[in-house]
Amino acid sequence: MTTSGSGSQLRKLIQLATVLLALSASSVSHAAAGWISGSAWSLNQSGGYCPTLTGVNCTGTRYPQTSYNIMWPVPNVVMEIRDNNNVQIGVGSTQTSGNFLVKWTGTASNPNPTQIFVVWWAHHKNNVFRLTHVDGSTHSSQTPWINVVSGTTQGVPQNIGSRVLSSGSADPYWNAYFQTEWQWRQVLAPAGTAFTGTVTNIEMRGFQDDQPSFLGFASSSKTVSPSRRIQLDTNAAFNSQGRSMHEFGHIANYWQRTWAITNSAGTCATCQYDWDGNGGHGWGTYEWGVAGFEESFASLYGTIAFWLSSSSAPTTCSNSTHCYVPAGANWAPGPDTNVEATSYAGATNNCVTTAATPEARKEITHLRFLWDVYDSNQDGTFDDYSSNTSLHWATQLSVFTRYPSGTGLNQLDEPWNSAYTSVSEKDGRASTSFAANYAGIHDVSAMRTRNCSPP
Ligand SMILES: [Zn+2]
Repeated sequence: MTTSGSGSQLRKLIQLATVLLALSASSVSHAAAGWISGSAWSLNQSGGYCPTLTGVNCTGTRYPQTSYNIMWPVPNVVMEIRDNNNVQIGVGSTQTSGNFLVKWTGTASNPNPTQIFVVWWAHHKNNVFRLTHVDGSTHSSQTPWINVVSGTTQGVPQNIGSRVLSSGSADPYWNAYFQTEWQWRQVLAPAGTAFTGTVTNIEMRGFQDDQPSFLGFASSSKTVSPSRRIQLDTNAAFNSQGRSMHEFGHIANYWQRTWAITNSAGTCATCQYDWDGNGGHGWGTYEWGVAGFEESFASLYGTIAFWLSSSSAPTTCSNSTHCYVPAGANWAPGPDTNVEATSYAGATNNCVTTAATPEARKEITHLRFLWDVYDSNQDGTFDDYSSNTSLHWATQLSVFTRYPSGTGLNQLDEPWNSAYTSVSEKDGRASTSFAANYAGIHDVSAMRTRNCSPP
């Protein structure tokens, strides 16, 4: 619009503006308000479910195959209502059920919006974490225009029904959100003050192997715990236990008790993946203690997320479907995925002690020890304790707070030399130290021994 029109046009414009001003002035104190309700859903195709296959023992699963590839509620996300000028007129959040009830209030310039739309952000309502795109923008979904029904109230809201946030194929961001929120709500938040308030404002950015402006080059997923950043790789969206849950687990460990993961020169204490001669790692690789323990503890949360402490044969793996492979006419947990398996059942020690391939150094061996401390399934003579039932899950986590400061035996920064210039004890701050620091609560050393004595 321009004001260089003829005199009569200008007068008309001024008259119109005066009328509009009068209208808005009289409406400021009468701005309309209303309420909307409904529920938000998205297609879940997150891996790690217990499959309905012959021979698979799903006793204790929290994530059966019937929960896979179906619509899931979008839980505990920030949402907002915007008017036809794209101005925010209401904020709220979804419940765990995906249900929402949100108030909107017209603005001075648009007191009676006739059309609105709703935006859901992949941002936890308590600001625990958010899922962002590679450019740093938070993922979101929104509705088309919705015609406003006037006169709605909290008790009689405008119900906009069940809204599916992704059409067609499963949305990678909402899936990674589901996985992380599930682990937070069912595993981490119940530990109370161990995590509440410290695990906050975590940015999970995906999905790209290398993100130079974020966490640099890794060719995989990566976490820098002190900076509260997680890089999710191109295969991370549907790989629950091995990616979103695992990486978030690293963050949880660090904020449970901060320590010198890196020194001032940038050397990383936990990156000791080369015991077996190569820098890669997985459940079946052989690692220095500090690396094997840290990776296993990061994955413990994802195991608990999908399995009850009473489970018969819980599994963990890096897979966007499930952890099982054909075994004759049946299916069985794939190699190094059965968390409750033991090579030292009862008094019979069948642990592999071959010099080049010692079972003790496998990452899964550390996890089997940590799971036995947590679980309530009696799978061996000395498996007589459960941090989940006899005490509380937070107790197991509180062990980190019991480590004495320093770089000495079983101390917080044990991997480092006293000057923090090199990683001199690569088996430090691992399962042996964890058991030693647990001793003031309960003697769990036999559980470590009966799981092939991880360092
Ligand atoms: Zn890791």
